[in-house]
Amino acid sequence: MLRVVVLGAAAGGAVPQWNCGCPVCLMAWTDPKLQSTQASIAISADGEHWFLINASPDLRQQLIATPQLHPKAGKLRHSPVSGVILTNGEIDAVAGLLSMREGWPFTIYAHAKVLSILKANSIFNVLNEKNVRREPIEIDKAFEPALPDGAPSGIEILPFAVPGKSAWYLEGKVHPGGNDGAGDTLGLRIRDKASASYFYFLAACAGVTDELKARLAGAPLIFFDGTVWRDDELIAAGLGTKTGQGMGHIAMSGDRGAIESLAQLDIGRKVFLHINNSNPALLPASPERKIAERAGWQIPTDGTEITL
Ligand SMILES: [Zn+2]
Repeated sequence: MLRVVVLGAAAGGAVPQWNCGCPVCLMAWTDPKLQSTQASIAISADGEHWFLINASPDLRQQLIATPQLHPKAGKLRHSPVSGVILTNGEIDAVAGLLSMREGWPFTIYAHAKVLSILKANSIFNVLNEKNVRREPIEIDKAFEPALPDGAPSGIEILPFAVPGKSAWYLEGKVHPGGNDGAGDTLGLRIRDKASASYFYFLAACAGVTDELKARLAGAPLIFFDGTVWRDDELIAAGLGTKTGQGMGHIAMSGDRGAIESLAQLDIGRKVFLHINNSNPALLPASPERKIAERAGWQIPTDGTEITL
């Protein structure tokens, strides 16, 4: 059995964003039901040991809100978190690591390009490598994350390359891992070895290729990039100068958007993740939300647990 908890569903900045008065944030400032933290999920095969997929800047708040991740009663120091799998090097995926610095052993699994970013930023040295191992993962090579005592977790993770971009703060700069090649944006297939149940995680994806369609067809569950409703959303709202594509994210709507591109693939359950506060689909009564839901998509609230 695979347990999945949505720790946060929002994109960078969360909902509400600290400096934002856009229509969604404006309502979220006073309505806790609309608030959401930055995208991350936790997974477990045994219900006792958990792995985080990305460590968001809101990690501490997410841990407090998630009883499954509280320290075990009666232990002086303990965390059910056995590891963190990073799918990219964006701030909203890695900054939470800095909140995990108090000496609990765990393993960081990431592509060499993302590990190179951690290595190039000395602030991450607070995670002493004696306690916190950094394991490179490779595209198209399945691995099984380990429990703190080295025992197998029972979870098989297959990383694969998806269309995307390197981290924003590296735009126009020399990437510490080199500017060539894939590895900056990974999708994951996550499978419970005992039951063979599985799902896909793609919190960042710039476009749906035929290869990706073939991969996702028939999947029981996917978490998919829901950053913007339309590609020029930030510009149209006066919130920014970048398109969704310019940030490496597909739009939900439109002929080439996620809803249309993934419509005919017989996917069991479709959940949007990494939803930016500019996205009107966050508002339960919006026409955009109705379109998404009618197409079989779910906009999750933080804390949603799914069992496979
Ligand atoms: Zn906003």
